[in-house]
Parts: sequence; structure tokens; C-alpha cells
Amino acid sequence: MANHPEVLIVGAGLAGLSCARHLADSGISFELIEASDGIGGRVRTDEHEGFLLDRGFQVLLTAYPEAQRTLDYHALQLRKFAPGAFSWFAGRMNELFDPWRTPGGWRAALQSDFATFADKLRISRLRARLRRSSIDQLFRNPESSARDFLASIGFSDPFIHRFFRPFFGGILLDGELRSSSRMLEFVFKMLSEGDAAVPVGGMGAIPAQIASHLPDGSVRLKATVESLHENEITLAGGERLAARAIVVAAEGPSAAHLVGEAEPASRSVTCFYYSADEPPVPHPSVVLNGDGAGPVNSLAVMSQIAPSYAPAGKSLIAVSVLGLQQLTEQQLGGFIIAQMKNWFGPMARSWRYLKSYRIPHAQPQQFPGALEPAQRPVRIRPGVYLCGDHRDNASIEGAMVSGRRAAEAVLADLARS
Ligand SMILES: Cc1cc2nc3c(=O)[nH]c(=O)nc-3n(C[C@H](O)[C@H](O)[C@H](O)COP(=O)(O)OP(=O)(O)OC[C@H]3O[C@@H](n4cnc5c(N)ncnc54)[C@H](O)[C@@H]3O)c2cc1C
Repeated sequence: MANHPEVLIVGAGLAGLSCARHLADSGISFELIEASDGIGGRVRTDEHEGFLLDRGFQVLLTAYPEAQRTLDYHALQLRKFAPGAFSWFAGRMNELFDPWRTPGGWRAALQSDFATFADKLRISRLRARLRRSSIDQLFRNPESSARDFLASIGFSDPFIHRFFRPFFGGILLDGELRSSSRMLEFVFKMLSEGDAAVPVGGMGAIPAQIASHLPDGSVRLKATVESLHENEITLAGGERLAARAIVVAAEGPSAAHLVGEAEPASRSVTCFYYSADEPPVPHPSVVLNGDGAGPVNSLAVMSQIAPSYAPAGKSLIAVSVLGLQQLTEQQLGGFIIAQMKNWFGPMARSWRYLKSYRIPHAQPQQFPGALEPAQRPVRIRPGVYLCGDHRDNASIEGAMVSGRRAAEAVLADLARS
């Protein structure tokens, strides 16, 4: 670490790490200052009794262009979800086939009564249109709520309720689909062009890989930045640090506090992990709550996707509940298991609770208007820059793009001064 780094970066999530990586590649000295005890921000993995528990269920969409440019997918040893989804409705588990990726999928999809023929046609047309559009174009499209967008295309209410609501609601952390249609279009495009995957070492392997490219000693942990004044930051405890440029890469609410902007609203989620003796579904597809009853929005059997997530002979089940829920762990756990018994029968009674995560700020809220423009400015005032998913879009990709954009702005300004 340089004695007087040229740049100070506040926050070692994916945005801060990406910014640091670009500065390091350009030979600019920096120090990354992180409040918590580790890097990764919202993308961290805990080891617990031999299980790998991501801090909230999440996946990498392999089609993300910035992630493709930045990450070594091969080294991450990505393990993919099976295409399609299960959805619980009408008192049974139904399977939605992805005809483009499942062998024999066209026949199965056409025969399935998950969706009407018209809905199947509409999904084909939407997929084709999104694959033809560039990401830039999608983020310039007129926007509405995701639900209004789906209704305007003509999708039937039952299909929206049984598939789009829990599926995209689980990704956007918004069970009412009030988020921007641009985000739905972006995620849909990414899913149609690549896979949903997790690294064998857990999602935390993604920030760890970026950090492995940074100079030794350039990350300082357990150091909270309390205030920012011109080109100087003050840490909890009173230490002051100055630099030619300061990049605030904290999550939206904390960043807003530091730079004096209005705090963005948050989407929250709760994740419960269970150990089971056997997986409740036959293959590694996401399982959706298609009837809307009960707290569980969706679940994934992580060990089916990547066996490294659980000790041999055990299954790891990640259950996602949208929002924070004003219930104790025991109360919410009781409701979850009751719902799971309804879906999977008595086997759910033997699921062993491992741990839960309540994440108040899982994503910034992105209702229509929030993504206008798609890329918000990263230069705040002379010498002060801002990056994070709240500057682009609420995703691993958005965080990484924003980090690069902030680094590019810093490099351009340092070269000029
Ligand atoms: C449960 C969950 C599920 C998700 N699912 C997906 C998914 O499936 N696919 C996808 O693409 N995205 C998903 N996301 C979104 C994605 O994880 C985030 O958009 C992305 O990680 C945000 O990165 P960031 O660097 O902008 O912010 P963060 O990761 O929040 O990093 C900010 C860092 O700044 C630090 N910090 C804050 N304040 C200070 C301070 N004052 N001083 C020092 N340090 C500070 C924090 O400790 C943190 O480490 C999900 C997120 C969650 C939580």
C-alpha cells in the first residue's frame, strides 16, 4: 500500500473492488476502506457446519457483459441451474420447460398446461425481441411497471401470477412487480443469452477473484468512514485521510449519508437455509410459489446446483421470503415449514434449520423513473466520485459497471490535473 495513495475508495463491494481493479491496472495507487470484516459487500459466503451459505440467495447471470470481461469464469468453476422452473399452484408442483435449452423441451413445453398456447407464443416473441435489442437500447425503452409491461404484451393474469410474479419478483425482490420494466427486460435478455450459475466456492468467490488482482495491503477492513469533506475522509475513531480523489462505493443509503444526497428506498429480503436428507425436487431448477399463499416466494436446492455447497449426503435448501417480516426466526420458520409440508409432504418436517439472513438493503428500489438515465453521473463534485448498484442497476453487473465508470472518471480527471 502506498503511504499516500492518490485515491481512497470507500466500500469493498463489487463496485469498489471493480473500481480498484481498474485503477490498479492503470498503475494508480489507492486504498480501499471497508467498514465490515471482509470484502464482497452484499456478495459474501459463510461456511457453516460444512455448508456454504451465501448471504441471501443470489446467482451470477453468465451473459452479463461486464462480468464476462472482468471475471475468469473457468477459474470460478461455475455450476449452472437447470433451465426452466417448478411452480406450485393448483395444489401440485408444475414444471415449466425452457424449450430452447431442454432436450425434447419443445414437445414438453407445448404439451404442458403451465401456460396457455398464447402465453407460450408471447414468451417466444418477447425472447426474440430482447435478444435482438442491445442492452443500451433496452435501458432507453419507454418504461412502466414490470406488471403493466407484461399485461400490455398480453400475458394472461394466471401466467403472470404463476410464473412472472414469483420468478422476477424473486430477482427484483418485488412481489408486486412494481419495478421498472427495463430491469425485467434486461434480466430476461441475460437469462435468454446465458445461464444462472454459482461458483463452486460460493458467490463470495466472485469478489475474492477481483480482489486477488489488487496489490497486497491495499484493502483496509473494519474501518468505517464517518464523514467526507472535500478531499478528506474521517474514520470512526477520528483518523483523517486525504487523497486527490475519493470514490464512495458504499451501498445507496450509506453513500447518500456520506455525500449528502437523498437516501434511496430499499428492497429487502430474508433467506432461510435448511439441511435435508434428500432434495425435494428432481433437478436443479428454481422452485416458485405460483399460488401466492404463504411466506416463501421461491427456493433453490443449492447442493443440486453445486454439490460443494453441502457436506456429502446432505441437501442445502435456500428459501427466499421477500421483505423483512415482523416475526421472530421461530415464528417465520414455523410458517415456512408449514408451507413446505404443503408442497413436499411430511419430508419437510425433517428439514433442519441452519441459519437465516435478513437483509434490509438488498437492492435499491428501482421503480419507473429510477433508471432514467440508465447510467447516473459518477462525478459528484471535484475530487469526489460515486459508484455502486444505485448508479447503474441493482445487479452484480450494474455494480461492476459503475465501478469501472468511476475509475474511468478518476483516471481522466487525474490525467488532466
Ligand atoms: C439477497 C440478495 C440477492 C441478490 N440477487 C442478485 C442476483 O441474483 N443477481 C444479481 O446480479 N444481483 C443480485 N443482487 C444484487 C447485487 O448483489 C448487488 O447489486 C451488488 O452486490 C451491489 O454491489 P455494490 O458494490 O454496489 O454494493 P455493496 O455490495 O453493498 O458494497 C458496499 C460496501 O461498502 C461498505 N460500506 C458502506 N458504508 C461504508 C462506510 N461508511 N465506510 C466503509 N465502508 C462502507 C459496505 O460494508 C459494503 O462492503 C442481490 C443482492 C442481495 C443482497
